[in-house]
Amino acid sequence: MIELDGMTPDEIIEYIKSFGQGAYRGKQVLDWVVGGTPVEGMTNLSKTMREELSQKAVTNPVRIRQSFKSAIDGTVKFLFELNDLNLIEGVLMSYKYGHTLCLSTQVGCNMGCAFCASTLNGCVRNLTPGEMAGQVLCAASALNGERVKNLVLMGSGEPLDNYDNVVKFLRVITDERGFNMSVRGISLSTCGLVDRMYDFAGEKLPVTLSVSLHAPNDEIRKKLMPIARRYSIDQVLDACRNYIEKTKRRVVMEYALVDGINDSIECADELAGRLRGMQCHVNIIPLNPVPERNLNAPTPARVRAFLERLEKRHISATRRREMGDDIQGACGQLRRSVIECPTTD
Ligand code: SAH
Repeated sequence: MIELDGMTPDEIIEYIKSFGQGAYRGKQVLDWVVGGTPVEGMTNLSKTMREELSQKAVTNPVRIRQSFKSAIDGTVKFLFELNDLNLIEGVLMSYKYGHTLCLSTQVGCNMGCAFCASTLNGCVRNLTPGEMAGQVLCAASALNGERVKNLVLMGSGEPLDNYDNVVKFLRVITDERGFNMSVRGISLSTCGLVDRMYDFAGEKLPVTLSVSLHAPNDEIRKKLMPIARRYSIDQVLDACRNYIEKTKRRVVMEYALVDGINDSIECADELAGRLRGMQCHVNIIPLNPVPERNLNAPTPARVRAFLERLEKRHISATRRREMGDDIQGACGQLRRSVIECPTTD
């Protein structure tokens, strides 16, 4: 099936022309796609055209299978179902300044980080651009007319390990004639695939780049992230400097604090030393414990001490607000709980 929501406006118009229709029809279809209407609901197309189109194309290949709303902060966790019945997750967070969707880029993940639930069964497959846009459409459908303003590519998967589809999705979702989302409202998080970070800096898609650093040196990083055996922190930081130079945007360093592993004051000092002079911001995340992993979050006092130490060393840092704690907000937890107990329907 053709996924119309994964196509640029030009591609949609070209495609509709192949049905013997003019550009005007293509623009009508584009409006329906952006509004999330299925082909059957495109009432300004003839019945024959609708039937013909629905044989070949869909406007959104993703369905909301279940959603869970946090009683604490209103965060909604979605379990999405794909056409091959694979499951992925998304999280919709509502802030004063608008709605932010955290979306997935792969079914599972191959990166093997020690603290992450998404990677426990490896990567099943890449998501298509249409499946990424489909998550945005599903979230929008749950918002009663309000817009999804910001996106973070921080759900399951390593975005730069699904490079072509992610870049295509970003072009589609930011196209002014289509979904028209602001590139400034989008963050892409990577575990640090250095070669791809250089490629991405050249794409002219100046989204906020978040880098999962999680350690002040290679020795500690290797304990948490297998990717640290391929690329050193020096290489990752050089790729960040290049991204900052090319896009004029500051990079966000993500640092999940893991009790007894990377949360000491010495670690904070070493991290501050490495980041000195870089245009970056550190996002501190107390580890979200995953039952399958024997890693824990430090005490709140230790988290505070780490943060204060960075600030004292003039590193811009904040603690990420934890949202949706009561609805398995952390990466990959919900999908796993459903895969493990498939009778929860
Ligand atoms: N693969 C990408 C994006 C997905 S993960 C990446 O590695 O950046 C999004 C963020 O959540 C990453 O910083 C990741 O390291 C972090 N994360 C994953 N599991 C976590 C957990 N249990 N607790 C806290 N942060 C976690």
